[in-house]
Parts: sequence; C-alpha cells; structure tokens
Amino acid sequence: MKMAFFDAKPYEIEAFKKWNSDGEIDIRYMEHKLNAQTVDSAKGCDVVCAFVNDTIDAEVLDELKKLGVKMVAMRCAGYNNLDLKALGDLKAVRVPAYSPHAVAEHAMALLLTLNRKTHKAYNRTREFNFSLNGLTGVDLYGKTVGVVGTGRIGRMFIDICRGFGMKVIAYDMYPVEGIDYVDLDTLFRESDFISLHCPLTDETHHMVDEKRFAIMKDSAILINTSRGALVDSVALVEALWNKQLRAVGLDVYEEEANYFFEDCSGEIVDDATLQLLVSMPNVLLTSHQAFLTEEALSNIAETTLNNVKEFFQNNNLVNEIK
Ligand code: NAD
Repeated sequence: MKMAFFDAKPYEIEAFKKWNSDGEIDIRYMEHKLNAQTVDSAKGCDVVCAFVNDTIDAEVLDELKKLGVKMVAMRCAGYNNLDLKALGDLKAVRVPAYSPHAVAEHAMALLLTLNRKTHKAYNRTREFNFSLNGLTGVDLYGKTVGVVGTGRIGRMFIDICRGFGMKVIAYDMYPVEGIDYVDLDTLFRESDFISLHCPLTDETHHMVDEKRFAIMKDSAILINTSRGALVDSVALVEALWNKQLRAVGLDVYEEEANYFFEDCSGEIVDDATLQLLVSMPNVLLTSHQAFLTEEALSNIAETTLNNVKEFFQNNNLVNEIK
C-alpha cells in the first residue's frame, strides 16, 4: 500500500511514523498541498492523505482517478474541501472524532484570553509595564453562552462552560436531551458569548453575517473554531469597526488556505481583510490549531492508518464519507 501524504508537517510525520513503525504502509510525505498543480505527485500511490486546506475538487479527483488512486483518506473530521459529487468510484474516509476535548478546550482558551486580556498582560509585563489600565474583563459566572452545533465538540464546550457556572443556550437541528435550545436569532440576541461548532455547509455558509452582527449584544464575544466561512469576514470587520461586538476569537478564517500552517512573516500578506483583522486589538487569531494536542495527533494517525488498512486488507470501509 502506497500513500501520498500532502501538506505534511513535522508534528504529523512524527505521529504517523510512530503508528506505522512496521512500515506496513509506504508513506510518501510531501510538504506541498494537494491541488490541480500538485496532483501528479500522487503518481504510483493507492491512497492520498489530505487535510483541511487541500483542494480536492472535481478536477483533482478526475486526475487522481486517472493516476489509479483508489482512496482519499482525510486526516480530519470536516470534509467541506472534498467534492463528494465528483468522487465516483473513489472511496473517501475521514477521522470523525480524534479529540473533541482539544477543540473545545481551545475555544475556551480563546474566550478566556479575550475576556481577561492575558495576551496583553503577557506582553506588558515582559516590558515591566505593570499597569492594569484597559485589562478589565467580566465574570464568566452567570453569563449566557450560545452554542451553535451540539455535536461532539459543542457538547464538550457546553460541559466546560457549565463548569464555569455559565447559562447555556444552543441551536441545532437535532436537539439532544439536557440542553436548552432556542432559534438562531434568539441565540445571537441573548448570548454574552457565542461559540460556533457546526459544520460548513451551503446552509451554514456566512451564518454570521451583517444581520446577525446587528442583533448581537455590543458586549458579546464571538468564537469560531469550526470553519472560517461560517462567518462573513468582511461583515465581521465592519461590525468590529462599528463596535457591534466586544471581541472575536478565530481559529479559522474563510481564506485561510493560502496562509494558515505556513510562516508568512517575511512576506506581504495579500489579503486586506486578514490584514485588518490581525491589526485589531480585540481580535485573537490562531491558525487552525484547535486540534493540535498530542492526543489528537496520535488519534488522527492511528485512525487514518486503520481506515486505509481495513479497506485494502478486508475491503472494509471504516469511517467512510458518503
Ligand atoms: P459533529 O458532527 O459531532 O457535530 C456537528 C453538529 O452540528 C451536529 O450536532 C449537527 O446536527 C450540527 N449542525 C449541522 N448543521 C447545522 C446547522 N445548520 N446549524 C446548527 N447546527 C448544525 O462535529 P464535531 O466533531 O462536533 O465538529 C464540529 C466542527 O468543528 C466540524 O464540522 C469541523 O468543521 C470543526 N473542527 C475544527 C477543528 C479545528 O482544529 N479548528 C478540529 C475539528 C473539527
């Protein structure tokens, strides 16, 4: 079994090498992302292993079929970058859950940081500036948090928020017991903090738009660790300018594919919206790192390798994307 591993990073290679120590799968690690320009580098491989910012559209899938690739193994949970309609005979698998804790904990880290401004305090005290001016936050205790999407990660985040003594309201089309659900506009209107945990679909694209920013509390903090395009980022910049929300924590950005996971510090980033967001003091941006814990990396490697082996050895499609 030969696998072309696109967009390989050192921390991923380490985890995959550990779980593939017997070399059962011959893995070709490549730094470049998968797209129409790079797809040829999967030549001779049975599987391609792809991540969140690879482009797996109809053109790339057609080329993969011509190269004789039989499976696309996504080493992530979301698969909005994979054109399911163009899959044809190609099989696709994913890692549905590798550590919902990792993402939920990162969402809370963003919220705590923005609220108590520990990122600013860190920089201040490094320069012996011990002033507290401008660092006032609010108690999380007793505040209302609105959670959009109460799947694996959303429910973990709710557990964490309840530990802080917060009131939780939520929105999901498939309610589960023990959670207070409201419609989406009520959630945006009544929440002190809003955290997004639903997938990116046609329906959820730009779910947070100009209209939703208009009904949010001016004091609200928005957290997005799900997918960038849930939030209309141009409308977000406007809303921040107009002081329609207090702060935003983003682990994802709708045009992240060109920049996230890479060191762009030596170049001019050619994205005015991203430039504006990074420049604002009440925006905290992390580059899609919510998943990045040792446990999650290990689970991703183990599940991905099992997905591939099960198919090629037993014709068994574990975690198929349909
Ligand atoms: P999940 O499938 O367990 O839960 C998703 C929930 O969203 C489900 O309950 C579903 O009913 C709900 N949902 C679907 N459409 C909705 C809509 N229109 N409005 C409201 N809710 C809707 O998924 P999960 O494991 O909890 O992951 C959630 C998302 O987190 C993933 O789709 C992925 O995009 C993102 N994610 C991000 C990272 C990261 O590193 N930042 C890592 C893993 C996952």
